Amino acid sequence: MNRLEQKSHALVFEGKRLEPVSSEKNAVGLCSRCESDLTSLAYHRNEAGWLVCAQCKNDHTILMCYDQKWNWRGDRELQISPDEVSVFSIDKEKLASVFTPAEIRDMLSCESGMPYVRQNLYRARTKYDKFEKLFGLKLNL
Ligand SMILES: [Zn+2]
Repeated sequence: MNRLEQKSHALVFEGKRLEPVSSEKNAVGLCSRCESDLTSLAYHRNEAGWLVCAQCKNDHTILMCYDQKWNWRGDRELQISPDEVSVFSIDKEKLASVFTPAEIRDMLSCESGMPYVRQNLYRARTKYDKFEKLFGLKLNL
């Protein structure tokens, strides 16, 4: 699923993270689900062309794909998600309420590019949803 981060407007598209080129709000067409006006949230570029994230007033979201010359190439699904956060920036007490000390140590190691124990990171990953539900912070390691 393609994801647009709520605050940073970074787009995770086909596994790649793209920074927004612009966050201009423009009328960009009609919502295919409810026929209300779609407003752009962010514009991104990749090798193929342009990607426009848009939303209607009923919170339907869509990712519109264009080539370099702005020929429409189709629509994709889009999900708006909370911004991913750095483990270093998270309060240690919050981390400790969900993760074990070994998991936290290895999440920090992984984030800083140091050697880590894979098993600990795998175990930590299974708790990301729980952590997001509790604190509204999305981890992605
Ligand atoms: Zn709609």
